[in-house]
Amino acid sequence: MAEQLRANINNICVYCGSNVGSKPAYAEAAIELGQEMVRRNIGLVYGGSSLGIMGTLANSVLQAGGRAIGVIPKALATREIAHHGLSELIVVSSMHERKAKMASLSDGFIALPGGLGTAEELFEILTWAQLGLHHNPCGIINVDGYYDHLISYIDHAVEQRFVKLIHRQMLLSASAADELLDKFFDYQAPLVAKWINRSES
Ligand code: AMP
Repeated sequence: MAEQLRANINNICVYCGSNVGSKPAYAEAAIELGQEMVRRNIGLVYGGSSLGIMGTLANSVLQAGGRAIGVIPKALATREIAHHGLSELIVVSSMHERKAKMASLSDGFIALPGGLGTAEELFEILTWAQLGLHHNPCGIINVDGYYDHLISYIDHAVEQRFVKLIHRQMLLSASAADELLDKFFDYQAPLVAKWINRSES
């Protein structure tokens, strides 16, 4: 099954910070993810910026000989400083169009450490999975425990019956890229839509 799914992951969309964060480990994880994606012949789809973890990741992919597609809204192209060395830079008209375009190009979704924009993008794609709008794997690379609090929050929401366990299980996590990508290849989306069995936890 893993081999069968492997053929279906051509591109992965990575959400990550437009800043570098406080620890070198965050950028190192981005470099490692980029190299691992290229090793597995997986293309990168991301927000198109040259800044922060975003730029580090794209450079890692390009330096390893891989393909990196950036999707950036026109209004952000200057502020975030679009990366002009990419395999392709797609300029769109709005943040919504950016997210929809990134999703349509991708067969999986990963969040590296980042800020509010990263969290918003991760939660949106997870809620699309929860609604059955896509069936692709979603995961976080929990570098140095950066996402421990976010994981605790989701577990709390399950405990309090705002999130079903089956939907919580849609969020894969690992501390390193190779481990997360292995999980992606084994992933099978549950067939339970959000509005079915409402009374179950
Ligand atoms: P951040 O994690 O805040 O550094 O942002 C990472 C990426 O998310 C950047 O490319 C931002 O343009 C993007 N971003 C920021 N805010 C939003 C938002 N409300 N919706 C979608 N993307 C956003």
